[in-house]
Amino acid sequence: MTRVFNFSAGPAVLPETVLRQAADEMLDWHGSGMSVMEMSHRGKEFIAIHAEAEALLRELLAVPANYKVLFMQGGAIGENAIVPMNLLRGKAGADYIHTGEWSKKSIAEAKRYCKVNVAASAEASGFTSVPPRESWKLDAEAAYVHICANETIGGVEYHFTPDTGAVPLVADMSSNILSRPVDVARYGLIYGGAQKNIGPAGLTIVIVRDDLIGHAHPLTPSAFDYQQQAANDSMLNTPPTYAIYIAGLVFRWIKGRGGLAAMAEHNRAKAALLYDYLDRSAFFRNPVAKADRSLMNVPFKLKDEMLDDAFLKGAQARGMVQLKGHRSVGGMRASLYNAMPVEGVQALVAYMKEFESQHG
Ligand SMILES: *Cc1c(COP(=O)(O)O)cnc(C)c1O
Repeated sequence: MTRVFNFSAGPAVLPETVLRQAADEMLDWHGSGMSVMEMSHRGKEFIAIHAEAEALLRELLAVPANYKVLFMQGGAIGENAIVPMNLLRGKAGADYIHTGEWSKKSIAEAKRYCKVNVAASAEASGFTSVPPRESWKLDAEAAYVHICANETIGGVEYHFTPDTGAVPLVADMSSNILSRPVDVARYGLIYGGAQKNIGPAGLTIVIVRDDLIGHAHPLTPSAFDYQQQAANDSMLNTPPTYAIYIAGLVFRWIKGRGGLAAMAEHNRAKAALLYDYLDRSAFFRNPVAKADRSLMNVPFKLKDEMLDDAFLKGAQARGMVQLKGHRSVGGMRASLYNAMPVEGVQALVAYMKEFESQHG
């Protein structure tokens, strides 16, 4: 068996020890005689798996007691609609910060439900930066302020938590959740799909302050009503049981590695290896403002895009896959989620040096 270094933006690399444990437990979970996939979500075995996953997530993020942790479905794109349906609370509009492709999608979806005020945009920089907080034109009457904490395609990440006063801050953290400690109390709501930095696709994490729920628009589907899901321990409908189980194993893996502070250290070191090389290289470049560079997704371009295919082919031959950039921006992208070992980044940088010396 040969495992590759998988730089996919998502679904993405998972810790090998987690996959091995899941394989060991595949046919018979803890003497139950069943795979987790075969269990009733109402049975005591799965209830224990679910409760442990939630407890570990709360512990890792130090989620305050007045926040609900929901395990939902529909992905972050689903949440782009579910958030306004639940959080408008009779208000006419919400503020959005436009920093790239994913916030653009959030804005377009929210416009179907409310008046969207784009309070700041990074368009002038070609979406290579986060607009400084001082430049935001927030509306005091907004139901919430929405940000994309990490633009997975553009490689732009917030390295600060914006102060939005009494207006709740909502963050799409799909691609940087659990990559570092977060002060949850500064947010009204955090959401993210699991398939970037947590586990299999199909699970969506929502962390929401409890005073914000219970005011959903009457036409909100029950399965997407935070209040109803919270009242039913995220089991109003059948939850994505296997994805929750794997997420729980990943949470335990993170805890075993020292929690989110240790993850942040590990992620900073990995990203620094790649950015330091990019900044020294005359052949490769990353366009993002240094202060706003993502530690999770690193887009880069070759000096001559005619060499893109040769670069990808050589990477593949060396066991490094999924480095092709998103079709909207071209070039390359290396995603360095928690489960990417430092050896993967070392191998990538070594290959880039080799490629540069041959083609530069
Ligand atoms: C991947 C991603 C999404 C889309 O998630 P889905 O699970 O496909 O709905 C949204 N926002 C961000 C920041 C992402 O990285």
